Amino acid sequence: MDFLARNQVPYQWLDIENSKEANHLLEQLGLDDKKLPVVIFPDGSYLVNPTELQIAEKINLKTHAEKPFYDLMIIGSGPAGLAAGVYGASEGLCTLLVEQEAPGGQAGTSSRIENYLGFPAGVSGGELARRAVTQAKRFGAEIVTPQKAVRVKVDGQYRGVDLADGLELRCHALLLACGVSYRKLDVPGIDALTGAGVYYGSSIAEAMSCSNEDVYIVGGANSAGQAAIYFAKYARQVTMLVRDESLAKDMSKYLIDRIEHTDNIEVLTCTRVVAVQGKRHLESITIVNDKTHEEKTLQATSLFIFIGAEPCTSWLKGVVKGDEKGYVLTGPDLMHEGQPPKGWPLEREPFFLETSVPGIFAAGDVRHGSIKRVASGVGEGAMAVQLIHRYLG
Ligand SMILES: Cc1cc2nc3c(=O)[nH]c(=O)nc-3n(C[C@H](O)[C@H](O)[C@H](O)COP(=O)(O)OP(=O)(O)OC[C@H]3O[C@@H](n4cnc5c(N)ncnc54)[C@H](O)[C@@H]3O)c2cc1C
Repeated sequence: MDFLARNQVPYQWLDIENSKEANHLLEQLGLDDKKLPVVIFPDGSYLVNPTELQIAEKINLKTHAEKPFYDLMIIGSGPAGLAAGVYGASEGLCTLLVEQEAPGGQAGTSSRIENYLGFPAGVSGGELARRAVTQAKRFGAEIVTPQKAVRVKVDGQYRGVDLADGLELRCHALLLACGVSYRKLDVPGIDALTGAGVYYGSSIAEAMSCSNEDVYIVGGANSAGQAAIYFAKYARQVTMLVRDESLAKDMSKYLIDRIEHTDNIEVLTCTRVVAVQGKRHLESITIVNDKTHEEKTLQATSLFIFIGAEPCTSWLKGVVKGDEKGYVLTGPDLMHEGQPPKGWPLEREPFFLETSVPGIFAAGDVRHGSIKRVASGVGEGAMAVQLIHRYLG
């Protein structure tokens, strides 16, 4: 559901537990509720428990690259990657973006971005992504999704990436704009229920499917706050489970004010989730108050987790240098006592957004020291293209 929504594909969601139509359709197809989810397409064909790639191929998303070689390859199509795609393609570079989930990245999951320049009333992440994708494609950028970069290669003057579909692509310059992904909550029962009542992050589609339910949100930073405000429009009650003593530590003041003025949001501070329970779907959660040590088990069908993020860089290890948390080091952060890193082959110093390998650049949240905002990701993506021109020159 999230995959279709984030790729801007219209769909209808039918819940087998309370939709006669869903049961009727299953019967017609000769299937039962043990084989779910079932995706039925407009031509009447269907797929049982399909992968995102199978759905993408069926609905004609572009899943494979057209050419073996590009001037510029961009890994990730969040704000940084999309901005680089727009600037790269508009300035005549043959540009490919590779995206493992859906264009928009983290920003694409945001219900309302209120601090991005030019949108005084705010804009949903999905809308921002849709506009950026249209703009990048209009300039001729190619976007493949869902497709994952699994290995990065340095081949003389060329840079390369192997994709999960087995294609080995080469380029003059490579931009890493692969951002960060949600940190996992490590409590008993969680793995089996992830996707069945337990979700990392959230989407507009999920909020709508929680109408009149009680929703629990784990986390106390801006992304959790935004989600709480959005869910409150649909859910009966939203409860935020926050480990710290107040929201003020990690959340912007404007969001705290909104939460305080929303009647159906409750904030439980000093509170952690210690276990989740359920057979096929989330049924309850156990929480503990770290001050009183009181433990409670609450009925729950929806738990959304926003507990920070880690960089998507495991596939880059051993090629470009990173910091102790895995964020990619670039430009001045690579210099030590005025010297470039060991193995740096050029006389010049690395450009501002260039990694420890000439011709491989990084922009946005994946970069060490970056400001984790949509506008800064967009700015870095645009700036990276200028530096890539200097590199190519
Ligand atoms: C819920 C939420 C709300 C937010 N609200 C705001 C806000 O209101 N204002 C604001 O300024 N900021 C906000 N942020 C932060 C902002 O969204 C991020 O700073 C921004 O999206 C970072 O952009 P990016 O392009 O660097 O990375 P990301 O957005 O993380 O995008 C990276 C992309 O790379 C893809 N990728 C990763 N690895 C691979 C791979 N190996 N192969 C192919 N693709 C890959 C990912 O799937 C992803 O789509 C919010 C974040 C969240 C999660």
